[in-house]
Amino acid sequence: MNFQRTEEQQMIIENLRKFLDAEIEPAFREHGEGFIPREKMQRWLQSLTDFGICKAPHSEEWGGFGMDWLTHLMVFEEVAYTSLDIAIPGFINCTGAEIIRQLGTAEQKEKYVADILACNKFISMGISEPDVGSDVAAVKTRAVLDGDEWVINGEKTWITNGEYSDVFICTCRTGEGEISHILIDREEHGYDVVGIPKMALNGQSTAQVFLSDVRVPVSNTLGERGSGLKNTLKIFEYARCHMAIWGIGVARRALDESIKYSQERLQHGKAIAGHQLIAEKIATMATQIDAARLLSYRAMDMVQKGERADKECSMAKWYGTEIAVTATRDAVEIHGGNGVTKEFVVERLAREAIIAPIPDGTTEIQKLLISRALTGINAFR
Ligand SMILES: Cc1cc2nc3c(=O)[nH]c(=O)nc-3n(C[C@H](O)[C@H](O)[C@H](O)COP(=O)(O)OP(=O)(O)OC[C@H]3O[C@@H](n4cnc5c(N)ncnc54)[C@H](O)[C@@H]3O)c2cc1C
Repeated sequence: MNFQRTEEQQMIIENLRKFLDAEIEPAFREHGEGFIPREKMQRWLQSLTDFGICKAPHSEEWGGFGMDWLTHLMVFEEVAYTSLDIAIPGFINCTGAEIIRQLGTAEQKEKYVADILACNKFISMGISEPDVGSDVAAVKTRAVLDGDEWVINGEKTWITNGEYSDVFICTCRTGEGEISHILIDREEHGYDVVGIPKMALNGQSTAQVFLSDVRVPVSNTLGERGSGLKNTLKIFEYARCHMAIWGIGVARRALDESIKYSQERLQHGKAIAGHQLIAEKIATMATQIDAARLLSYRAMDMVQKGERADKECSMAKWYGTEIAVTATRDAVEIHGGNGVTKEFVVERLAREAIIAPIPDGTTEIQKLLISRALTGINAFR
């Protein structure tokens, strides 16, 4: 496995970094942490699709770059370093388009994939419900056949991109012990959406989705009927690698801010970087970030080669998101009192990092999955 950047990847990342620093960072800072309206989000994301956000791993047939998923992780890390609020909708669109590309009919692909990758449309994916979190097999949202239509009733929660979404991949119970994915086009079939205020990441959308007698044609079934659980696990593989990079982007920013601050801040007659306990924090952050990145690259490499990678994806997700929590806490400590003020970015990073271990399976769930893969014994129930 060689994860050195190719010349092409290096060029993309350097150009992207310059663009993010010059254009997106000041614009995002001016906007602040409030909700980013759809048009603005779309404008920002579309300015980034030329650098590969959403498009890097997808084939040219769909307007993509025909590169690979590692390139997308690299691009995603850079955008996350500047603004997770902007990076997250891009990651959902990129993986959502992949799910339709892998499972969809020719008509479904034609209708959505290129538009989602170009961020003309936004996609959401809904598994979680008020009573259904870590135990994804317990989904209650029900789709009942009525002639050649599904009638869907239920409530989904924590849905990323919910307020922006044009199309929703809804995980539904379609029969006894049967879970399926159904595509709901918001313009054609409608669903109600309410945003959820959070401790951070309020720029992007996390929402409740209410489905009340929503009727969609049976032809909107995504993938084989009854294959919803199996396909959800496939979605998790892509999502968990990106979640790891969410953590890494935030941790790397916290590290850079800490290096700068510790070089400049003088206490006890010298720069605090010269105090050994601060030096230890910097060294630990840098080493953990590199280790986390290698774990996530390995997992993504296996996923894109079609190898079984559930254990590796869980390791990457657990480690990448948890080191973000410790790295950002250390960054706040390195900044002393300044670290808890709005003037210094580490305050925001620490709040964003705390959220990272939760979506797409908590750290506890990742550990149970890793252990089950190693021992063959299920510790879930
Ligand atoms: C910002 C954000 C974005 C999200 N985006 C989406 C999205 O787009 N689509 C979507 O469908 N969902 C999304 N989610 C939901 C997310 O996947 C769930 O929050 C997550 O799976 C945990 O479920 P829960 O919140 O119901 O917690 P619960 O499952 O209730 O868990 C609560 C606690 O109990 C622990 N726990 C649960 N079961 C066990 C067990 N067997 N052993 C040990 N500990 C256990 C958990 O680790 C956790 O610490 C998002 C969540 C957030 C915060």
